[in-house]
Amino acid sequence: MIKAGTLEDLQDVGAYLTGHFLLTTGRHSDTFFLLARLTERPDRLIPWISLLRDKLGETGAHTVVGPAVGGIIPAYQLASAMGHTRVLFAEKDADGSMQFRRGFKLAPGEPVIVVEDAVTTGFSVGKVISAVEEQGGRVAAVGALVSRAQGALPWTVPMVSVLQLTGVRNWDPSECPLCQEGVPLSAPKR
Ligand SMILES: [Zn+2]
Repeated sequence: MIKAGTLEDLQDVGAYLTGHFLLTTGRHSDTFFLLARLTERPDRLIPWISLLRDKLGETGAHTVVGPAVGGIIPAYQLASAMGHTRVLFAEKDADGSMQFRRGFKLAPGEPVIVVEDAVTTGFSVGKVISAVEEQGGRVAAVGALVSRAQGALPWTVPMVSVLQLTGVRNWDPSECPLCQEGVPLSAPKR
C-alpha cells in the first residue's frame, strides 16, 4: 500500500519523473514534477488534500485562492474539504502579473489561503499574494502539495507543504552533466 503524501505516491501516478528535463526557468534538471498526473485522479489527490488541510490547521481563512492552471484543482479540493469556504482563482495577465477576473472580489482585510501544486522559487505564489493584496485581502497562509524551495522565498507568509524535498538538483545548461553525457532533453509539460 503506497502512502499518500510521499514521493513514491507521486512516482506511482506518473507525477514524478527522472531523466533530463528543461525547466520553465530554462535550467536543466534530472527530476521533473508533473502534478497534473496527481490532480487528474481525485481518489489519489484527496488524501494529499486532507494532509494539507491538517497541516494548515486553523488559519482563520474561509477563502482559498489558486493560481491558474496548476493551483485551481488543489484549491477547489481544499475548499471542499474545509467546508463553508469559497474558492477563487487568479490568472496570468499579459504583463506577467496575476489578476482576479470573472468578477472575483475580496472583502477588505479578508484572510485567504493561497494554494499551489508545486512551489520552487516562490515567484508565482508571490504574484498571487500581490493580486490578493491589490484586492484588499490578506494572505494568512500558503499551502503547497510539493515544495522544493531551497533558501529564502520572496515573501514572508508562512507556508506548509505536504511533501518537502531538499537537494533537488538543477543546472545552468552550460554546466549540465546530462547534456555533457548526451542524454536527450525533454519538456514534459508541452
Ligand atoms: Zn542538460
